[in-house]
This record gives sequence, C-alpha cells and structure tokens, in this order.
Amino acid sequence: MRSGLVNAYWKSKRLCEKLSTTSMARQLAKTCSRHDQEHTCKDLFREHPAALLKWRMLWYSLPSCDRHARIVNMFLAARTSQQKEKLGDDQFSMKYYVLGQAVCRDAFIDLTCIAADTLQRARTQAMSSDIGTVVTASPVV
Ligand SMILES: [Zn+2]
Repeated sequence: MRSGLVNAYWKSKRLCEKLSTTSMARQLAKTCSRHDQEHTCKDLFREHPAALLKWRMLWYSLPSCDRHARIVNMFLAARTSQQKEKLGDDQFSMKYYVLGQAVCRDAFIDLTCIAADTLQRARTQAMSSDIGTVVTASPVV
C-alpha cells in the first residue's frame, strides 16, 4: 500500500515536470549539436513553446501502452520505408520528427520527454518484428 502511494507520487511528480513551462524552458534552452556543429532543431519550438506544451499534454494524456505502441510503430514505419529503398537493417537510421519538424535524436528526447531507454526498447521491438506489422496497444487491466 505504502509503496503504491510512493510510486503514484513519483509518477505524478515526473508528469508535472514534463508539463511544467519552467522545466520546458530549461529543456528548450539546452542546445543540441554533433561534431562541434550547433543544430537548429529547437529553434521553431523556442518561438512557439505553447504548441510544444499542447503536444505534450495530448501525448501524456494517452495511456502508456498506447504511447509505447505508437513509438514502436514509428520505428516500424521508418524500417519499412528504408526497406523499400533496399536498405538492410544494418543500415537502419531513424529520422525523428516533432510536429512535422525534423529534429535530431537528442532534441527529440528533450522536446518530447520520451526517455532514451524507452526509444531503445521500442526500436529493439520494432527491429525484431516482421515487416508490415502494426503494434496495437493492449488495454491496461
Ligand atoms: Zn539537434
């Protein structure tokens, strides 16, 4: 009973941080880069933080199993698309988008608050699935 309350408290606290404008401003202020080249991935979201906040509110209102299924399907769609271009799984490279804007993986994680290990689990599941599979969310019992 007590650990259930503690878990509920931490889950609620993490959700509040994801939907906090202060926390979001901190994440938007962080820059992303590769090979000493600074990216512009977050520029549009710095100009329109309300759109990103609305996206987060909608995303985190979905049940967790539904969110997971959508992430797996995102990887499956990318994998299927690359296979149509005759690229093998060893050449798989994920392109990330937030609200239709192409972003790097680091920016995707900062903008969406979807953790790197969640992405990795979804990618692993997608890479071990048959092509053409669509993952459906299972209802939480
Ligand atoms: Zn970037």
